[in-house]
Amino acid sequence: MLEDLKKRVCDANLQLVAEGLVMKTFGNVSGIDRAAGVVVIKPSGVPYEGISPEQMVCVALDDGRIVEGDLRPSSDTPTHLELYRAWKAIGGVVHTHSPWATAWAQAREDLPALGTTHADYFHGPVPCTRRLARQEVEGDYEANTGRVVVETFAERTGPGGETISPERMPAVLVAEHGPFAWGPDPARAVHNAALLEYAALLAARTRTIVPACDAMSDHLLDKHFLRKHGPGAYYGQT
Ligand SMILES: [Zn+2]
Repeated sequence: MLEDLKKRVCDANLQLVAEGLVMKTFGNVSGIDRAAGVVVIKPSGVPYEGISPEQMVCVALDDGRIVEGDLRPSSDTPTHLELYRAWKAIGGVVHTHSPWATAWAQAREDLPALGTTHADYFHGPVPCTRRLARQEVEGDYEANTGRVVVETFAERTGPGGETISPERMPAVLVAEHGPFAWGPDPARAVHNAALLEYAALLAARTRTIVPACDAMSDHLLDKHFLRKHGPGAYYGQT
């Protein structure tokens, strides 16, 4: 089943390696078929070299049971499922331990919007979650990781005072852990994860030069984000 999606999810996992976002077996990409109610994800702990579409694991969106596949799904699968359940518009989810984004997550700091590279993809600072409490870690840890991400988005507001949306903010930093990113499909989720890593590197270097460097101006943030995204977008080829 879902042969096309399994191939696209496999390709996206290989693209994570090509983008330099993978250390050892850390990281995973999934994609969803909303009509089927099925999420396709990388198997757990399998080296990226030589992975094939047939090894991708199909799990049910509603309860996470394996509906097809011989291998165990990524241990982060419950986190992916929480995001897909909360946000109907997303079609692919990525988790990495890419070094610069993970450094910000470990520092438990939002990734500040300091320039247009960031603003082209993220409409404001990329939020860092709160830390998970002991009981959240000791029970249902991976699902609770997803819940704390959804909670963070429900509580934060964007540049215009509106609740931040997963469309305008396609990434998060999970405190003391690392980044998750998403998009309309697995390939664009990987692209967003790569841009997050680059923006995290630039922000770290900028703050090395000027530790107190504050956020970019709202009007430039809006200009760069909105010319590429949303109803008034005009960047690129139509
Ligand atoms: Zn992780």
